[in-house]
Amino acid sequence: MQNKSFKRKKVAQPNVKTLADAILAGNFTALSKGITLCESKKVEDRKLANELIKICLPHSGNSIRIGITGVPGVGKSTFIESFGIYLIEKQHKKVAVLAVDPSSKRSRGSILGDKTRMNELSVHPKAFIRPSPSSGSLGGVTHHSRESIILCEAAGFDTIIVETVGVGQSEIEVKEMTDFFLLLMLAGAGDELQGIKRGIMEMADGMLINKADGENLLNAKRAKREYQNALHLFPAAESGSSPKVEICSALQAFHLEKAWSLIENYLNITQQNGYFEKQRQGQLKAWFNKSIQEQVNVRLFGNTAVKEKISLLEQQVEQRNISPTEAAEQVFEEFLRTLPR
Ligand code: GDP
Repeated sequence: MQNKSFKRKKVAQPNVKTLADAILAGNFTALSKGITLCESKKVEDRKLANELIKICLPHSGNSIRIGITGVPGVGKSTFIESFGIYLIEKQHKKVAVLAVDPSSKRSRGSILGDKTRMNELSVHPKAFIRPSPSSGSLGGVTHHSRESIILCEAAGFDTIIVETVGVGQSEIEVKEMTDFFLLLMLAGAGDELQGIKRGIMEMADGMLINKADGENLLNAKRAKREYQNALHLFPAAESGSSPKVEICSALQAFHLEKAWSLIENYLNITQQNGYFEKQRQGQLKAWFNKSIQEQVNVRLFGNTAVKEKISLLEQQVEQRNISPTEAAEQVFEEFLRTLPR
């Protein structure tokens, strides 16, 4: 009996050191397992994930992290497929693709769809594609995406592409974990600046007008000029590199080298002027601060006494017996009371 439970425990707890060694050796299966561990919400997995990250962290950071966003249908998956192949074959890169989806609205089907749409890239030995996590995780979405980046880098990937698959909040999340934020756009008829929020345009380090092929080529060229003019009106970028616009066709693998030069020029400028490192340090600090907030949430709202106090006070707040602010203070005092002295 004792023997049995010992065995079960052994199966449930992977050896972190072995897993880390396999990741560092570039083993794809181990990398997938590591990411799954980091995505897990179980307390015991969290501990193992922390250990894994601790081992991998010193081996991370040697990559370019590219965030890609754009409205659904703009061609993100198609672009990542052809740009990924371009990076591997022409720039000799090793490419990992991750997806961030804080809204977690995607069904498993569409996640698999991502992989099947990236036909060539998904089977390439120098590419790793990780679909977005399937279920919502309270406040934990960003940290496991950041941890996935660390693991991919430790596994030897030098180019990490992070795709936003949600709308709204996901752009900010991805901007906060990447070095270069690329906005894919379409040339519309007329209203070029409609359909994409100005805030997203302001966040972009570069823009690509996709689907510049066939009859759309001229439209794309015109849109490029219009967007470039519009960008001149924006405040100067903190990076010291003013955002540029290019056209491309993801479908026909046209102008992918222009897309790459957008990124390369940005990297040259920001690595020289120190912004690249400054941004990475700022991102680590932001990750730290977010993690503290998550810890507070988990510990505060997971506390039984606190939960009881909240449900008690909720009624009093509704009946205007106590102000919401004072009630919140009482909740926090209750929490402090439960802590060991
Ligand atoms: P996503 O929703 O942003 O990931 O967009 P997809 O990559 O799924 O592309 C949406 C549709 O646009 C698909 O039918 C693609 O084949 C098509 N598409 C993507 N890139 C191009 C392009 O460069 N030219 C043309 N003509 N069609 C494209």
